[in-house]
Amino acid sequence: MTDIVIVGTGLAGLFCAYRLSKITKNIILITKGSLKLSNSYWAQGGIAVALSNSDSIEKHYNDTIKSGDGLCDEENVKKLVQIGREIIMELLNENFPFDREEDELSFSIEGGHSVRRVLHSGGIQTGKNIIEFLYQKLYDLNILENTKLLDLIVKDNKVFGVVVQRDNEIFNIYSKFVVLASGGASGLYLRSSNPWTSTGEAMFIAYKNGATLENLEFIQFHPTVFFAPDNSRILISEAIRGDGAILINERNERFVDEKSTRDKVSREVALQKEVYLYAGNLKKEIIFQKYNYLYNILKFYGYDLTKDKIPVKPAAHYFIGGVKAELNGKTDIENLYAIGECASTRVHGANRLASNSLLECIVMAHLSSLDISNNLNNVKIKEVEPKRNFYDVKIHFEDRKILDEFCFVIRDGEKLRKAIKSISSENLIKFILNFALLREESRGVHYRKDFPNKNDKFLGYFRIKNEEINFYKK
Ligand SMILES: Cc1cc2nc3c(=O)[nH]c(=O)nc-3n(C[C@H](O)[C@H](O)[C@H](O)COP(=O)(O)OP(=O)(O)OC[C@H]3O[C@@H](n4cnc5c(N)ncnc54)[C@H](O)[C@@H]3O)c2cc1C
Repeated sequence: MTDIVIVGTGLAGLFCAYRLSKITKNIILITKGSLKLSNSYWAQGGIAVALSNSDSIEKHYNDTIKSGDGLCDEENVKKLVQIGREIIMELLNENFPFDREEDELSFSIEGGHSVRRVLHSGGIQTGKNIIEFLYQKLYDLNILENTKLLDLIVKDNKVFGVVVQRDNEIFNIYSKFVVLASGGASGLYLRSSNPWTSTGEAMFIAYKNGATLENLEFIQFHPTVFFAPDNSRILISEAIRGDGAILINERNERFVDEKSTRDKVSREVALQKEVYLYAGNLKKEIIFQKYNYLYNILKFYGYDLTKDKIPVKPAAHYFIGGVKAELNGKTDIENLYAIGECASTRVHGANRLASNSLLECIVMAHLSSLDISNNLNNVKIKEVEPKRNFYDVKIHFEDRKILDEFCFVIRDGEKLRKAIKSISSENLIKFILNFALLREESRGVHYRKDFPNKNDKFLGYFRIKNEEINFYKK
């Protein structure tokens, strides 16, 4: 029994716990893997924030809206860039080690940003550094690793806790509030940049208990992932293209503006036979200062980043849709919050601006913690009997293969229809395929070969609730 259960120990979960720990220590965090296994821990390029002299909140807002291709929730974007900036300033005051050049903060530039705006730490180890920074502050909280969410305890549309599994033991944790900070679902793809933990079953569990899922067709692909012979996937951060690295095909020809947004670069990369990233044109100091970590990993696999062409392919990277939530994480279910990548707040529209997701994690974590703090004394813990058959979501390899083959960067209706028929059971993969089929246009990261243009008829969001998919005009 506890005040708050937080599912997930990525940035959203840990930052929420950090904020809440100032008012209660009765918090249990669970994670199905280890602390080091999350998209957050793996995050590289950094965190977008309008802090440089050449930048402004308006510019950051405009770039986010432009990238979102008509589907951003403007009010939420305003709050994201404004509140995000305030929180980053707090982190700076708390001496979080963002990289500096001669004492000034160092900003990178990534696709879709009009100015240098991305703060980073330890070169491309931003995620690792921020998770370890927060973890040190949370030593007195109860963090259960290798503990998986099996179900939510929901009655009359109100959450009363969670059912979890640790090794062979299944137990209930009753709580006043449950915060899902369980990350995205791009790990459902076989070609993915995510750790194995990113398979989105917590979203499906929320749906089964009455929450709404939305925007599931919008999956961002990263154009430059190195697939190692041992099946490790190494993301080659966009920041290196911002610094001048180029992409070439098997004929050594450049074929795309390397600084354009991920959706465009991914599509062009997907159309080539072979693609290589070449950073031999960069000054060696830049590689060793900023990309030393990447240099060492690639060296391990026999590639020298300072002179070799590195083979790259696109991979599923960021899950834009998720559990429909407000920016403070509130969902359709009372006392259930969804924050970070598992939530859909429509701030990314149809295409997330690079490095806006870590920002979304801290903003949502902050706002949800405020809402929970305000209501902590108004909610009572109640030991409600959970359902007998909880939703232990099984993800079949065959379904993942179908998703990977038929719903990758370039999609078409005929293949999607075939794919839907082959899916073994009702699951998140089936929903993704259905959403991708229904959106008969190309917008943001969603590209349909059979409908290559945007169509204003689709200026809105597909949502699924209680087995019904509906379209809502923006
Ligand atoms: C390689 C890589 C590089 C990236 N680089 C950047 C970047 O530079 N800038 C940026 O803004 N974004 C970046 N992103 C995206 C960003 O990292 C994520 O969007 C963000 O970290 C998501 O944070 P989160 O806390 O919501 O989820 P995560 O960090 O993914 O954490 C999810 C947590 O939930 C747990 N979990 C999941 N399911 C269950 C379950 N059923 N039971 C219990 N626990 C569960 C997981 O174990 C994990 O602890 C990158 C992503 C990747 C993969």
